[in-house]
Amino acid sequence: MTPIADTMRVTFPWKQPTILKPGAPVPKRVQMLMQRMCKFSGSVKSYLEDPDCLLNADTRACPFCPSHHPLRRHGWYSRWIIFPDPSDPERVSILRLLCPSTGKTVSLLPDFCIPRRQHSSVFLAYFLKGIVVLGLGLTTAYRTLRKEAQSHSIAQGLLAGFSSRRQKIQTYLAQWQPRINETPVSSPPAHKLLATLFHGLARGFPDEGPAFLHHGLRFHQKFKIGLA
Ligand SMILES: [Zn+2]
Repeated sequence: MTPIADTMRVTFPWKQPTILKPGAPVPKRVQMLMQRMCKFSGSVKSYLEDPDCLLNADTRACPFCPSHHPLRRHGWYSRWIIFPDPSDPERVSILRLLCPSTGKTVSLLPDFCIPRRQHSSVFLAYFLKGIVVLGLGLTTAYRTLRKEAQSHSIAQGLLAGFSSRRQKIQTYLAQWQPRINETPVSSPPAHKLLATLFHGLARGFPDEGPAFLHHGLRFHQKFKIGLA
């Protein structure tokens, strides 16, 4: 069973586990949990072996209190992350921290994740590349990376997620790329704006995967949402 067809399990030590069907709206209670994306330079395998590795003085500092005291460990939940073939999807453990003063929690996400999405940053990068650079249709662009039974609706959802952030991505890129609105001439006409955003994010990197990893982290730090 693929993770898309499976359920995502979110555990709360003080309540019964919450089971989220992929594609189902995320309950308000879960949306309110703060996520902190953390730079992670190792391989996915090394994260799986030691998910504690994200914990340090900076990631542990309380974002809610002026003193930025160290947060308490507050258990784990697991989530799927989907990579392009031939890498298998992985079920990864995510550490949660608690501020005992406010009762609020923070989850530490490695930067290869996209918050609240199963797809990895690298997957998103290559998926968009298929559409705006190679001119592939949505489903083909998706299936080139991963053969899922319901790939059309999943591909639509992923593209819609990225498209819905277009204004924020433009704002983000405009910080240091004032000429971002120059559209690459080779893009398919239907995806001019997407192409502009994609090339803006990929610019200066030899490969789109690391580019999306790099910008996904900073974009989340600025807007508190992922790139899709
Ligand atoms: Zn606190």
